[in-house]
Amino acid sequence: MAHPSFDITDRHVLITGSGRGLGATLAEAFSLAGARLTIADINGQLAQATCDRIIAQGGQAIALTCDITDQQQVEGLFAAAHTAFGGLDILINNAGINIPKAAEDLQADEWNRIIATNLTGTFLCCQAAAATMLPQGHGAIINICSIHGHVGSYVHQAVAYNASKAGIINMTRSLALEWGSRGVRVNGISPGPLATELMVTRLANQAYVDRMLDRMAIKRIGTPEDIVGAALFLASPAAAWITGQILAVDGGWLAA
Ligand code: NAP
Repeated sequence: MAHPSFDITDRHVLITGSGRGLGATLAEAFSLAGARLTIADINGQLAQATCDRIIAQGGQAIALTCDITDQQQVEGLFAAAHTAFGGLDILINNAGINIPKAAEDLQADEWNRIIATNLTGTFLCCQAAAATMLPQGHGAIINICSIHGHVGSYVHQAVAYNASKAGIINMTRSLALEWGSRGVRVNGISPGPLATELMVTRLANQAYVDRMLDRMAIKRIGTPEDIVGAALFLASPAAAWITGQILAVDGGWLAA
């Protein structure tokens, strides 16, 4: 039996971008740990598919369609999640996009889309979660950052993505300081390269893979499952005195 500090049974967890990739893996893992899941994605069919898998495994979940760049949709998402399960214990801000391109070629509308999704969308969801978490006096928020939020363009040219992830890192620290005394913890996870849809093109490029592996202490590309333990830990009572931290789960990439 797991140590009680890691018990998240019946906690209500909302995960953005959980129709596929890392978000879907986290949703299934949190369900296996006994949590109740709100699956949110801009693609309602993908959200429903994750939800169906969870229910087929005996879990509790609802699927909701939401574009996190739209404040009205975000407010609607959190209201519907509250109606379905009551309260909100854990939010994982996972939805994110990238348009890898040389900085000189990036169009203003591409820059704006990336910042609107990764940075502003994450903030809107933090704010909507806080509207429930602060009055109830508890909550844990985990923002999915990236190793590329800690360094400049290394291998991949993605200035807007890197800037958005750096923004999320400092937003995480700022919100942790604003909300810690009222029971809401805000932490981040910076994954290294994971084999997901987002990375299909880059992982097909052997030169990219070789350069990423060269910097890692553990010489393999990660999988979404590699992030599960860190997320469960940061969401659980075991992390009750941890806030404002960004945990790198990256095979040692940032240690170099
Ligand atoms: P992914 O496979 O592309 O999944 C992201 C999900 O988010 C997709 O279902 C996507 O829907 C959804 N989404 C996109 N824009 C949205 C919006 N405006 N509102 C709601 N949902 C939206 O990506 P992933 O690899 O799992 O990445 C998940 C997170 O981890 C991202 O924040 C990413 O930056 C971060 N990360 C990934 C890696 C990696 O190597 N994969 C490394 C470091 C950090 P669509 O399918 O319709 O676009």
